[in-house]
Amino acid sequence: MSKPSKQQLTLHKVIMVGSGGVGKSALTLQFMYDEFVEDYEPTKADSYRKKVTLDGEEVQIDILDTAGQEDYAAIRDNYFRSGEGFLCVFSITEQESFQTTSEFREQILRVKHDRTEEQIPFVLVGNKADLNEKRQVSREEATNLATSWHIPYVETSAKTRENVDKVFYDLMRKISEQKAAEESTQNGKDGKKKKKNKRRKCLIL
Ligand code: GDP
Ligand code: MG
Repeated sequence: MSKPSKQQLTLHKVIMVGSGGVGKSALTLQFMYDEFVEDYEPTKADSYRKKVTLDGEEVQIDILDTAGQEDYAAIRDNYFRSGEGFLCVFSITEQESFQTTSEFREQILRVKHDRTEEQIPFVLVGNKADLNEKRQVSREEATNLATSWHIPYVETSAKTRENVDKVFYDLMRKISEQKAAEESTQNGKDGKKKKKNKRRKCLIL
């Protein structure tokens, strides 16, 4: 048994998905650093980690901001597999980006086929809410889509910071609930205290 060293914080892994230009990086950077970055390199994917207090508990959030490499199916699938929750972002000013959210959702469900839809924390995010005069996606149609997926729909602005904390915290809360549910069924099923439910792969040399 290993010594209980420094207390390990729970880590919640969030993946940002959505078409290019919808504001995935801007939302991430606004959440991380409280600033609106207008010209973040569009092809750059990066991950970020931050300590936050979620309902009184100190946890860490790990955010993977994807950026087009998801065109390579293998890379994309690895990203998606590693995610515990997803912020699926479109821009309310771009109808096409809204249509594309369905493709992202399908890809994620395909990769996470060992789970049911309800077991995958997911929030549909309509960003650029500050540009209401350029709106191409109505609140109603976005809400209808989210409802059909049994997930929440939230409108954000990375520019004004509207609902930015909310989407990340709401998602972390879902991830946390999902982990608690998995742990209790796991303990109930086999009585073991195993935390992780990872399938071990056999490596033949
Ligand atoms: P990504 O490709 O999804 O990462 O998108 P970016 O974060 O790079 O944003 C693309 C462009 O949209 C940039 O010029 C941002 O300044 C702009 N942008 C992102 N979010 C918002 C927002 O909420 N409001 C406005 N007005 N512009 C935004
Ligand atoms: Mg980006």
